[in-house]
Amino acid sequence: MRYKRPRGTQDILPDQVSEWRLAEETFRRIANDFGYSEIRTPIFEETDLFVRSVGAETDIVAKEMYTFSDRGGRSLTLRPEGTAPVVRAFLENNLQGTDPGRVVKLFYIAPVFRYDRPQAGRYRQHHQAGIEALGSASPALDAEVMHLAWLFYSALGLEQVDLLLNSVGCTVCRPVYVERLRAYLAGHARALCDDCRRRYEANPLRILDCKNPACRQVTADAPMMLDVLCDDCARHFAEVRKVLETIGITYQVDPRIVRGLDYYTKTAFEFVGKGLGAQDALGGGGRYDGLVEACGGPPTPGVGLGIGLERVLLARQALGLSVGAPARRGVFVIGLGEAAAQWAIAFLARLRAAGVRADLDYRFRSLRAQMRHADAMGFRYAAIAGDEELSRGEVTVRDLETATQESLPTEGAIEYLSSMSRREHCGGNAHG
Ligand SMILES: [Zn+2]
Ligand SMILES: [Zn+2]
Repeated sequence: MRYKRPRGTQDILPDQVSEWRLAEETFRRIANDFGYSEIRTPIFEETDLFVRSVGAETDIVAKEMYTFSDRGGRSLTLRPEGTAPVVRAFLENNLQGTDPGRVVKLFYIAPVFRYDRPQAGRYRQHHQAGIEALGSASPALDAEVMHLAWLFYSALGLEQVDLLLNSVGCTVCRPVYVERLRAYLAGHARALCDDCRRRYEANPLRILDCKNPACRQVTADAPMMLDVLCDDCARHFAEVRKVLETIGITYQVDPRIVRGLDYYTKTAFEFVGKGLGAQDALGGGGRYDGLVEACGGPPTPGVGLGIGLERVLLARQALGLSVGAPARRGVFVIGLGEAAAQWAIAFLARLRAAGVRADLDYRFRSLRAQMRHADAMGFRYAAIAGDEELSRGEVTVRDLETATQESLPTEGAIEYLSSMSRREHCGGNAHG
């Protein structure tokens, strides 16, 4: 083998695609139902967009971006997260129009690139389904975003999902907290892991979500953001909790949820699947009231969510869930003999032109081999003719589901099969 796919990437093979389509179509349907419209942004952006929005000191920007110069000498970066490109497009295309109070609700399903250490469920190219709601500071919108994710997991059969909720404060109260946290950690610097010792200056909040047991122990008694929230942030947090309770979504307050991106303000949340081991994080998000301004726009509040589709599919696999075999449909055409082979090619073309799923065996093997093939490919019917049958103007139509067959005039067979096929579509499986 000469070439291999790049480390940390994956080929999604034909037998896995129905799982992907189920996840994507479910997300698309629910996001649409919630009033979100799809947006598709370029796979790369100016590097500076991510440096400004995600934060120069974050792991993502400092260590994980795929950044390159194009032939014009511009620094470009493959999208390492989904929110900043959407905000850039929101501003560049003036999606809010002339009403600054208008809420613009967008969703996307897109690959995301991070130079991370590959492990189960973590890829250098992974796929994110996300939503962004721009223009409103209402706590009810934070709850709506979480509700959408909640229904998405449930629609995919992931019922055992915990919602962990926190507030990371705002530009008023967070600096106060960061100083308190630093003061507390100063006495414990030696106990922290190497990463956290680096984070101490640049990004001490991230020390709270370090998985290293020593760091966990240090932060067990650390001051928490929730104790330091300003009045505005405290009120917002209480409202979000109230709306979640009104909707009927259970959650746990978890002061360690800080998210790895600088732009979050107030609400931060994560969804965690039960019994999934180390790769249990199924998605998360939060409010980012300063992000639009950081990207050069007017002050505009926003809240969003990102769901890692690889993790969701792994969780389904762990639970033994899978898309069932699609319903049988379409026609496999079998011509036995020289004239019949020509007939089969023409018959196939007419079926396809009539919109019927159809195929044939270009090796023109034995009847038995072809019938096996038709069965394995999930066809509902086989249309079979030999030279002698054709000379009588007849074709045999065999129903592979009921194992019955009948002889039809070749002329009427197209119409018959296309009407049967339309009927299949009505009750058929959308994920075939
Ligand atoms: Zn605050
Ligand atoms: Zn650590």
